[in-house]
Amino acid sequence: MISEIKQLTGSVSEAFKKKYYGKTFRCPVCHLELAHSDLDAHGLVVCPLCGVVMDVQDVYGHTVPVVNDVELLRPQPKARTHPMAAHLPIGLFPLAAFGAGLLLLVSLLDVINSRLPACWQSVIERMPLIADMTLVLLAVSVVSSAMTSASGYWDWKNRYRGRPYRIIRLKLVFSWIFLATGLIAMTLHGAGVVFSAGTGLIDFASSQQLILGTVYFSMLAANMVVIATLGHVGGNLVFGK
Ligand SMILES: [Zn+2]
Repeated sequence: MISEIKQLTGSVSEAFKKKYYGKTFRCPVCHLELAHSDLDAHGLVVCPLCGVVMDVQDVYGHTVPVVNDVELLRPQPKARTHPMAAHLPIGLFPLAAFGAGLLLLVSLLDVINSRLPACWQSVIERMPLIADMTLVLLAVSVVSSAMTSASGYWDWKNRYRGRPYRIIRLKLVFSWIFLATGLIAMTLHGAGVVFSAGTGLIDFASSQQLILGTVYFSMLAANMVVIATLGHVGGNLVFGK
């Protein structure tokens, strides 16, 4: 079952990757996947991970990266703030999504309230607290992501000298999407238009909560994909593959 899901997600991401990256090759030293579009006008590229300078040739349709040099003056700050800062939003966002999912599940079960055992009431009573905790986790994750993105931008400008890599452009665009989508979800939750203030649950009789709830959960689901991609791509920039 898990391998089938992995196969499915793998084939979806491969199709997306092929379209976005175009033709790719791997750095012969650290095995980081780079795109042909990362090359400069002379067919040269500096690997952002290991710093080798490659002359990339196309030999009878095969990509042949030849290592010419290693970048010497490469700023390698000991305190690598971006990979460390990334743990906060990546760690907390799935917890916020889990809290929101729990509120949705309890809201759905509450429709058949009268047929549930008496202890159900003690679960219901805790839901306003769960709703508040979910909002706090969501807020910390989204707000801290702005600082994480800023540290990544600084790293790109200094460590990688602002060179245009597809992998970095993807991270920049996805970071903006995560922040914008996260802020909208946070605003909807904070304004009390998704979960009722008194119960912490979704009132399915309210068409406003139904529509805005659909928007809220779609944004959380989209951001799960976005943050997983950001983490995966960022991991490649640290470990190669
Ligand atoms: Zn490399």
